[in-house]
Amino acid sequence: MDGVIWVATLERTNIRFFGGLRTIGGTIVTVEYKDSRVVFDFGLKYDPANNFFDGKLQLRTTSIVQDYLRLGMIPKIDGLYSEKDLAGNEGVIPAELDKRQTAVIISHIHLDHIGAMGTIAPEIPVYLTSDSLKLYHALDTIGEGVPGNRDYQNCDYDQSFSVGEIIVTPIQVDHDILGACAFHIETPEGSIFYTGDLRLHGNYPERIEQMIQKAKECGFDVLIMEGTTLNSVEVQRDSMVSTNKIFEDLLTEAQLPRKMVEALEEAKGVGCFNIYNRNLDRIEGILTAGKSSKRIVVFEPELAYLASLFMPESEFAVYLSSQTKEEMKNDSLLEWKKAVLERYETLDAVQINEDPSRYFVQNSYEQTMEMFDLHVENGVYIHSNGVPLGDFDPSYQNLKNFLKRIGINHVLVGTSGHAIPNHLQYIVDELDPDFLIPLHSFHPERLIPRRGKQVLPEYGVTYVLKNHELTKQ
Ligand SMILES: [Zn+2]
Ligand SMILES: [Zn+2]
Repeated sequence: MDGVIWVATLERTNIRFFGGLRTIGGTIVTVEYKDSRVVFDFGLKYDPANNFFDGKLQLRTTSIVQDYLRLGMIPKIDGLYSEKDLAGNEGVIPAELDKRQTAVIISHIHLDHIGAMGTIAPEIPVYLTSDSLKLYHALDTIGEGVPGNRDYQNCDYDQSFSVGEIIVTPIQVDHDILGACAFHIETPEGSIFYTGDLRLHGNYPERIEQMIQKAKECGFDVLIMEGTTLNSVEVQRDSMVSTNKIFEDLLTEAQLPRKMVEALEEAKGVGCFNIYNRNLDRIEGILTAGKSSKRIVVFEPELAYLASLFMPESEFAVYLSSQTKEEMKNDSLLEWKKAVLERYETLDAVQINEDPSRYFVQNSYEQTMEMFDLHVENGVYIHSNGVPLGDFDPSYQNLKNFLKRIGINHVLVGTSGHAIPNHLQYIVDELDPDFLIPLHSFHPERLIPRRGKQVLPEYGVTYVLKNHELTKQ
């Protein structure tokens, strides 16, 4: 009899939250059924003003897990980290001693979703979509990977795979990065649908409509959804228009090239731009803007490498910085960089200065000093969602001060990777969940389902999904 009761209590799906409930990113959730467990995502919360690693302080690659744990940057979860990495954390069970079957699944490769995935023990599989993995390998090559050294597994859109008794299906969404997906997570006691990050004003809104259809076909009980853009203004549910049509004064990804061309035409001098390298849609937009304004697009070598892999037909030149010239002289160029410099036309500041109005030149934040070498009179600096992103990042004022000093006009032409509140409401209303858990947001309480129950979880509490009902333990 005891045995029967014991089995019965195990037949439930436990959901626990370790990050991302009231922050932008750093979402870490575990879904567990008997000896099967799925963890999603594994990033670091995005908070440049309070980030301990400020770009100056060096990470100790020999003790990343211990140091991250002490700083509270990653959670103490049993069965995820290697015994050797856990030294000094006796309360945490190492992966080697945990008998559960665990997998980590990653919705997309923004740092707030992957930043800590390199800390996971090598015996725990970490799944990324094939698109994400291809982009990740390219980023890793150019030095934009995450700390830690391990292998990653690939999964594909609409292709289910099992983690013990849990079945996971990645479903493609549109976000400002290649490879982004939602996950349908099916357990014997009920299913969860996790949206990852998404938007309706990108180049592929149909992916969101298809995601909604697929989620409905699969069926689910709990919807876990991002709410990045929800703001603090008191909004009644009824006044938040649920629509996929309203764009307010928001620019769509598709409108950006034309806006850039307007700014470039107004400027008589050089055009500079600052984007986030892993936003491939934006790279395409830059190339389009260059073509339309009859300017030669000049990429830094890192971006040139990405473009050579993901848009091999495109035409552009590569910027030769003083640092790159030095590396050429010392014969210390990395292989990937050498290949890019051999394949494409190269231009340095002196060549660009012969007629600055003919060029649209990448200048990422780290390369700001290069602008001292460019003739920027009557030029324009198009800031298109490259770091620093805004006032909340202390580096932003630094950049503004510099641009003012050299006298180049700073204009913002960008758009967010996250759905605006009306679109979030539309997606929730279409999905119509029995239980809605909004997260990845400063104001998750603002997202309210029309019929089901809104659940705002707390850390340290286990939520139980049993017979398709979600309760707090
Ligand atoms: Zn995110
Ligand atoms: Zn994201």
